[in-house]
Amino acid sequence: MSDAETGMKTGAEIGVIGGSGFYSFLDDVTEVTVDTPYGPPSDSLFLGQVAGRRVAFLPRHGRGHHLAPHRINYRANLWALRSVGVRQVLGPCAVGGLRPEYGPGTLLVPDQLVDRTKSRDQSYFDGEPLPDGSVPNIVHVAFADPYCPTGRRAALAAARGRDWEPVDGGTLVVIEGPRFSTRAESRWHAAQGWSVVGMTGHPEAVLARELGLCYTSLTLVTDLDAGTESGDGVSHAEVLKVFGANVGRLREVLFDAVAALPGSAFRDCACGSALEGWDLGIELP
Ligand SMILES: [Zn+2]
Repeated sequence: MSDAETGMKTGAEIGVIGGSGFYSFLDDVTEVTVDTPYGPPSDSLFLGQVAGRRVAFLPRHGRGHHLAPHRINYRANLWALRSVGVRQVLGPCAVGGLRPEYGPGTLLVPDQLVDRTKSRDQSYFDGEPLPDGSVPNIVHVAFADPYCPTGRRAALAAARGRDWEPVDGGTLVVIEGPRFSTRAESRWHAAQGWSVVGMTGHPEAVLARELGLCYTSLTLVTDLDAGTESGDGVSHAEVLKVFGANVGRLREVLFDAVAALPGSAFRDCACGSALEGWDLGIELP
């Protein structure tokens, strides 16, 4: 059986990095364990069918949410998705709003990213040998526009189709966590003109780019960040409550976006050619 045939039966073409709220009710979900040269991903991949498309769901924090944002093995997660055939990734995540008008329940599809993380492996091409003895070369990918334009269009159209007017564009600043921002940090983020703040959107986006994958971030505002609101700051309970109240419609938007994405062989964006011209030194899965 060719790889393509195997991929059709056991693999997926689209990846969704998000918790069980997105896949638990699908019929016929197959759990697949994948290992990678970087260690195991956050959890098994859960493969299912959405609108006739094969989708791999990966709980970002592991089932039961046991992985803090800075402890997630992002390299393993993206590598595992690519290894089952995924070429386009949708990454929903909870964020804080940095402007008063971006209150809880706002859906923002960012077009820019600022990395304020501190301790995360954010490249496959760091010159460190892999377990099989191969050594990746140093590669500098273009990242001026971190998100896939096609994926963004699909996400925005899907939201509008569900009467959930999204914010089209804006800057997601990703902090190290797991703590929330201080008021000073939050005010500084807002003063830069950044839109929302989260803890997981990076290095997911750049690792996807390094593997030639399309990546689209869908951010759900669960709270106004500490510098924006006048109360006691963000609480985890508040985040969970708002996320839980919106997970159903976010799932609908995700699934509509999945249906609208082009087939892997028909991608019209530049994401798949990010590595063109580079001698990688390693084989991608
Ligand atoms: Zn793309």
